[in-house]
Amino acid sequence: MIPCPYCDRHFKNKQALRAHQKHCPLKNKKTEKGNTNDFERLLLRYMLFLSNLDYIPERFTVSEIANALNCSKETVRRFMSWLMSSEYYEIVKLVITVKRKT
Ligand SMILES: [Zn+2]
Repeated sequence: MIPCPYCDRHFKNKQALRAHQKHCPLKNKKTEKGNTNDFERLLLRYMLFLSNLDYIPERFTVSEIANALNCSKETVRRFMSWLMSSEYYEIVKLVITVKRKT
């Protein structure tokens, strides 16, 4: 079995993988405008979600964030790992710190 590097679906051989990649939604998305843009948009929604909360808990579950951002749990996982390694994470930490103080 060979995994598609974009969406992680598995295929029985290289030929099947190549046929799939012509239509792989994640691959086409990436080449169109890059994943970062999508995550940046999610980040705005995430910041809005944090800002609107009365109280920020120690941690969120993946489902809570998926509901708040209106996306799949898989997207939340990828978004979170992108966020943790991105410079934008400083802004998120700042918002959380400020919210906890008030
Ligand atoms: Zn794929």
